[in-house]
Amino acid sequence: MSTTEKHHFQAEIQQLLDIVIHSLYTDKEIFVRELISNAADACEKFRFTQASGTPVYQPDTQPGISITTTEDTITFTDTGVGMTHGELVENLGTIAHSGTKAFLKQLAEAKKPDANLIGQFGVGFYSAFMAANRVTVLSRSHLAEEQGWQWTSEGAGGYDLEPLNDLPRGTRITLQLKDDAKEFAKPDALERIIKRYSNFVQFPLELNGKRLNTVQAIWARSKNDIKEEEYNEFYQYVGHDQENPLYRLHFSADAPLAIQSLLFVPARNFEVMGMSRTESDVHLYCRKVLIQSKAKGLFPDWLRFLKGVVDSEDLPLNISRETMQDTSLMKKLNQVLTGRFLKFLEEQSAKEPATYEKFYEQYNRFLKEGVVTDFTHKDALGKLLRYESSTLAKGTQTSLADYVQRMGGEQKEIYFLLAANREAAESSPYFEVFQSRKFEVLFLYDPWDEFVMDHLREVEGKILRSAEKAELDLADTTPKTGALSDEQAQALAKWIKEILGDRITEVRASKRLVESPAVILESDKFMTSTMRRLMKSMKKEGEASPDAQHDLEINPAHPIMARLDQIRQTDPALATKVAEQILDNARVAAGLLEDPRAMLKRLNELLEQVLVTKA
Ligand code: ADP
Ligand code: MG
Repeated sequence: MSTTEKHHFQAEIQQLLDIVIHSLYTDKEIFVRELISNAADACEKFRFTQASGTPVYQPDTQPGISITTTEDTITFTDTGVGMTHGELVENLGTIAHSGTKAFLKQLAEAKKPDANLIGQFGVGFYSAFMAANRVTVLSRSHLAEEQGWQWTSEGAGGYDLEPLNDLPRGTRITLQLKDDAKEFAKPDALERIIKRYSNFVQFPLELNGKRLNTVQAIWARSKNDIKEEEYNEFYQYVGHDQENPLYRLHFSADAPLAIQSLLFVPARNFEVMGMSRTESDVHLYCRKVLIQSKAKGLFPDWLRFLKGVVDSEDLPLNISRETMQDTSLMKKLNQVLTGRFLKFLEEQSAKEPATYEKFYEQYNRFLKEGVVTDFTHKDALGKLLRYESSTLAKGTQTSLADYVQRMGGEQKEIYFLLAANREAAESSPYFEVFQSRKFEVLFLYDPWDEFVMDHLREVEGKILRSAEKAELDLADTTPKTGALSDEQAQALAKWIKEILGDRITEVRASKRLVESPAVILESDKFMTSTMRRLMKSMKKEGEASPDAQHDLEINPAHPIMARLDQIRQTDPALATKVAEQILDNARVAAGLLEDPRAMLKRLNELLEQVLVTKA
């Protein structure tokens, strides 16, 4: 009686395999890195398990990795933790990740799918199928009461599982190579690929019986002895990336905690590469023994783009991984590491602005997320923000500190204006008063920024103030010729309010307008039009709009207002239309007009009337 069990892959895995088998042609050799990485992980897990006192199968077999080749096979053998029947099914047949669908979609739609993403996404094992048409996994768990299993698959059509006795502890993976991948079985070629990573493997690694690596922890070595090349290769190994990192921070500290750490920032933000949310990829060691890979809680969530290792002697070796996240030691580590990394970014921004600009372009959303979610570090994060500003050329960004430096004595607050782009910001009615006062205004183009400013509140003792909310008067308050007097303006405002009724909360004369006839302001002290827009865009289908409350400010010096004041007695019908159009125009400027079609009819009537009087 056959004991072979037939299994299907989870649909997502099958989909992934189809892409791996049929569409990935470049960077094929990454399967070597991924399988070595898995073998090393298994060895690390074994060492940790044994160190924490758990009884293991074959305790005297040291963890290690050996790779052997024939003409058309490559076999990766490790004496790590191995896998049980359940683990084989779970680990080599399903993906637990959230966001898998988005990732697969992105991978499937890409013209030239990027093999790199496979390792990034934690599905590195399946890269074996780039080179192999058949993969056999023999595995024996480290748990004494378990038995061995053979897992085989040709990619399509699922996999077979059958029990196999007398296997040594660990995992042996054999790749039956496709014709176009047989070159990888040539020992010289394979050795070259393996050597790129082998020195970062914390266990003996052999190729056809020849030892390839010297076991060493790069992060524990002195900076001066490490070549740029080694750093980059280490990054590519731990980061599952083919590119070099954008930033590297190698540091050690003695107090308040003994830490050796090597951190990297990838050149690309993988979260925008179709992965909904990346997971922290920093591994936690204690005296070179892996305590937890992708350690949770080591960094705040908004630093989840970091990769690398943290080694601290102060960690107890036998700590349970589940509860570690909540220990006060972990919190302290998190504090120290985050503080150090923020300081590093600040130094870099001053030292090499061009690289920082690249970093900022990729990762600004993470910094902003930090400002909003992480009270402890919000001020340090505030220093890292960069914005365009009215006094700088388009494309040039300033820090908030530099803005404060430039502030004249007359200016008390930091002003910012949210707009779709530079042009919209400069022609915004809200900007007029600042231009007149020669006050610098930060131009923000990311809708998140409104919340960021709201949370940041102040920088160097200066309040951050939305341009829409600033209570400012024009520099030159001498009445313009032809402008309405205060009484006239008040009377006109009163009349407009009567015409517009409930559509507006209050109408008053403005002291902030130069070019524009009128402007809309939120009645609510804490609300700005951007927030209002955001709330609208977030509301669910069928839900009523949040009740907007707006004030209209009119410009008494604008010719439209002077004429309107004249005709409201003589031609009330026309005056009414004009007042309504003024409101809609102000709504357009504020981005608040939902359906412009309604106003077109009125606009056409007005045009007709203009042409009639000219005829
Ligand atoms: P990741 O390594 O990011 O988790 P992989 O697709 O590379 O994703 O591997 C999936 C899982 O399969 C691993 O997390 C591990 O549990 C298991 N696995 C893979 N290779 C081995 C191995 N050599 N020994 C033990 N477990 C392994
Ligand atoms: Mg892996």
